[in-house]
Amino acid sequence: MSLPAFMDMTCRKCGGHIGWFGCVGDAPYCPHCGAEPPREDLRRDEARLDEVRRLLSTKDQDGPTFRKQRELAGLLPGQAARLLGIMIDQLHALEDGKVKPNAAMAQKIAEVYQLDNSPEGE
Ligand SMILES: [Zn+2]
Repeated sequence: MSLPAFMDMTCRKCGGHIGWFGCVGDAPYCPHCGAEPPREDLRRDEARLDEVRRLLSTKDQDGPTFRKQRELAGLLPGQAARLLGIMIDQLHALEDGKVKPNAAMAQKIAEVYQLDNSPEGE
């Protein structure tokens, strides 16, 4: 999903400036020469931007989530690191979103923090 923003582009036909507020797909006809905007190209650009935004927002969410889960489990960083069998530096890297846990570590985190997201249950 795209957020509306101030957009501008240069008309491919006359080189005139076209500005609008909205999404890329909302590009208006050129106010100078009336040319239709290259909607196909704009939509492709927009899809690429959306993908970048999605990746960025995923990155932002992971770290705080691990920290929040640890806090909810009532564990201090040192305790959590010891229970997980990792160095505290590694725990911070996880919580800061600098590294992603592999499957085994994700499972371990779920166990140690007693997260209720295992399909097998107890
Ligand atoms: Zn134009």
